[in-house]
Amino acid sequence: MSRCMKAAFLPGNSTVELRDVPVPEPGHGEVLIAVKASTICGSDIRAIYREHLGKGPEGYQGVVAGHEPCGQIVETGLGCRRFRTGDRVIVYHISGCGVCNDCRRGYMISCTSAEYRRAYGWQRDGGMAEYLLAEEKDLILLPEELTYLDGAQVACGFGTVYEALEKVGINGNDAVLITGLGPVGLAAGALCRKLGAEKIIGIDISAERRDIASRLGLCDSVLSAGPDNVNQVREVTGGLGVERAIDCSGNAEARATAIRATRKWGKMVMVGEGGTVAFNPSPDIIHDQKTIYGSWVTSTWLMEELVERLVRWNLHPEDIVTHRFLLEKADEAYQLMASGRCGKVAVCPAGE
Ligand SMILES: [Zn+2]
Ligand SMILES: [Zn+2]
Repeated sequence: MSRCMKAAFLPGNSTVELRDVPVPEPGHGEVLIAVKASTICGSDIRAIYREHLGKGPEGYQGVVAGHEPCGQIVETGLGCRRFRTGDRVIVYHISGCGVCNDCRRGYMISCTSAEYRRAYGWQRDGGMAEYLLAEEKDLILLPEELTYLDGAQVACGFGTVYEALEKVGINGNDAVLITGLGPVGLAAGALCRKLGAEKIIGIDISAERRDIASRLGLCDSVLSAGPDNVNQVREVTGGLGVERAIDCSGNAEARATAIRATRKWGKMVMVGEGGTVAFNPSPDIIHDQKTIYGSWVTSTWLMEELVERLVRWNLHPEDIVTHRFLLEKADEAYQLMASGRCGKVAVCPAGE
């Protein structure tokens, strides 16, 4: 006797297909989660929704969409060691083999097993459904103080940003530049604030996104993206530039701006995916003793520490969710996210 549920698929022509599929049954070491919140990521739009462009780790294999799920366990399979029915959980969005070097470091994102590495919403069923089958080892416990919408954003955006900020180190000494004020850039603003940054400058082409960043108090100044950005950043930093810059745009010009607007001895980190960048190593980084970092997602252990700190800081990622939709309206949700005229967009299957 198999039960049915609604689930959203992305055929790749800027539409969403809702289908009835069987509710999965948890096997050994697996749990069944009632999905409460599932947010849409920039990468879903870039690599799946408009067209199936992704390769390798970003290759979409026609599964249930959504890699930022958060919900409550309703059933556990045999052999679960820590999590139980009733637990509220975040799903780390890549299920790795568990035994390669990357998995052992907690970075299942870069699991090297071609056979076992499968990301939720890319190569295995994701969170845009009423229920999600997940492996126990991929779960992060969601503290009571955080909402499901908070948790969904830890699953990808906030975790990814926190990793990048830990790499470059952010504290009250730093003026910070954020290029790209989509949900990831907004998360960067919120976390830099809690880490002590008193001067945060944001750049985006979209007026809506600049407004959201200002309205939520996540940036002290916002600039419209343009060729004069480096000078504008220097103007508000005593002519010197910022100590830290974070690119969340993936855009070539924005990345070059972030590199050039970083001051001597400063650090810049690239988080936004895709695209390219051109800069002149001698004047742009070598002579100014700058360091450029790359950062890809995060580890399960840092995600666990992040949720603890979100509670300590009373920081709710939910605050950057500007729109929420029922699963039946997933089509509208993806359409809005693709337009960029929004903050974070969420689908809440149970309407909570
Ligand atoms: Zn994501
Ligand atoms: Zn692995």
